[in-house]
Amino acid sequence: MPSPFVPRTRKVRILATLGPASNSPDIIRQLIEAGADAFRINMSHGSHPDHAARIEMIRTLEKEMERPTTILADLQGPKLRVGRFAGDKAMLEKGQTFVFDRDTTPGDATRVNLPHREIFEAVSEGTRLLVDDGKLVLRVTDASLDRLETVVEVGGAISNNKGLNVPDAVLPLAALTEKDRKDLTFALDQHVDWVALSFVQRPEDVAEARRHIAGRAALLAKIEKPAAIDRLDGILELSDAVMVARGDLGVEMLPEEVPPLQKRIVEAARRMGRPVVVATQMLESMITTPSPTRAEVSDVATAVYDGADAIMLSAESASGQWPVESVAMMNRIATSVEADPSHAARVHFTETPADPTTNDAIAEAANKIVETVSAAAIVCFTVSGSTARRVSRERPAVPLLVLTPSPKTARRLGLLWGAHAVRTKDVSSFEEMIGKAKRMALRHGLAKAGQRIIITAGVPFGTPGSTNVVHVARLVGDELDRHKKNEA
Ligand code: PGA
Ligand code: MN
Repeated sequence: MPSPFVPRTRKVRILATLGPASNSPDIIRQLIEAGADAFRINMSHGSHPDHAARIEMIRTLEKEMERPTTILADLQGPKLRVGRFAGDKAMLEKGQTFVFDRDTTPGDATRVNLPHREIFEAVSEGTRLLVDDGKLVLRVTDASLDRLETVVEVGGAISNNKGLNVPDAVLPLAALTEKDRKDLTFALDQHVDWVALSFVQRPEDVAEARRHIAGRAALLAKIEKPAAIDRLDGILELSDAVMVARGDLGVEMLPEEVPPLQKRIVEAARRMGRPVVVATQMLESMITTPSPTRAEVSDVATAVYDGADAIMLSAESASGQWPVESVAMMNRIATSVEADPSHAARVHFTETPADPTTNDAIAEAANKIVETVSAAAIVCFTVSGSTARRVSRERPAVPLLVLTPSPKTARRLGLLWGAHAVRTKDVSSFEEMIGKAKRMALRHGLAKAGQRIIITAGVPFGTPGSTNVVHVARLVGDELDRHKKNEA
């Protein structure tokens, strides 16, 4: 039997976006070896056949390397764009008037088409329209259902199909565009583990996407709109995970507002036990240079000290010149921070009090016992993964080995702080449970003879949502030798 994968000692997970720079089994293997735990497929770029080929590469490597690997399909969402210009672009001067209308003839320096009815419905005098990642700022002076008159506050070049942000309004947009629905069908057919929803504005957006996904994948809500910040708790409640999507958030809000928001989102998500990903521009300069700026290193470190579940690479691994080096650098930064004796205390600065549930009682007990008896690992038997999420929420001091009969659960847990998910056959007795936990902890290098492990499970066995046992076991050398039978 092939040797099992070696669990990473790092707690924070690394999510790497794939793209033209990471398009071969060889590079993807190198990314995994350098530390990538999960991959993002960005539906804003590339074709379905391209994405399908990458997904196939990951699944083949997953089998070969015996390491459950997480795939997240990121839907583009209602990305707003201006229309086209005669001569492809125009120059807008500060103080001039500029009009957005429903007329599809190419624009000029006085007007352009805006192909989104919803914006006309939602904006009013005073609303800001940001063009091209906020480089141009226009303020609405007069709004009707077919014409928006604006005054240019920050001018510059505006060209065909440039992106548009409307931070001041909640737009009456559906959670999924027509393109999103096609991309979602594709992604679910490909059995991706997670689906990310872009430009979420309201909890209802998440609810609508959930209905479409119907349990076939877990759902991550990207927090990148001020409207989503206003409804954060409601969105967290309905989501399986969230992302601090600092790229668009930094366009819609002032840049200096983003760091406090990052702290707030990470804290709220951790309290509720939803994995939280910190994303965008983490090692931006590594798109073109083999080493990051000191400030970027510090930014990655901050997310790790905040106790985020995962840190993400975008263009660095998708289209940059140094994809593998970027993952390796993230891994080095995370490893260094986690080795800092102050790391645990900084992570526990966010308090995560238990909910009045059996699951949380077990999770809290397991975490306490680890400290009291200096156990080496927590071993968690779970079908749905919910116990693992509650144990991880408390940010245990030791590795969390998750044993699950469900390959789906194992893969979904790839965004969870400190978790090493392994697919195994279900156990049917208490004795078998203890034996298997000991052998798997040993086999995966998470505990040695003489050490204790903490086991959580549900009795009767194989019933989802029944975790009600926490057990302390001690690994004894010859006892383990007697179990020669193979593990699945
Ligand atoms: P994107 O999302 O890369 O899909 O835009 C992340 C962000 O906006 O930060
Ligand atoms: Mn975004």
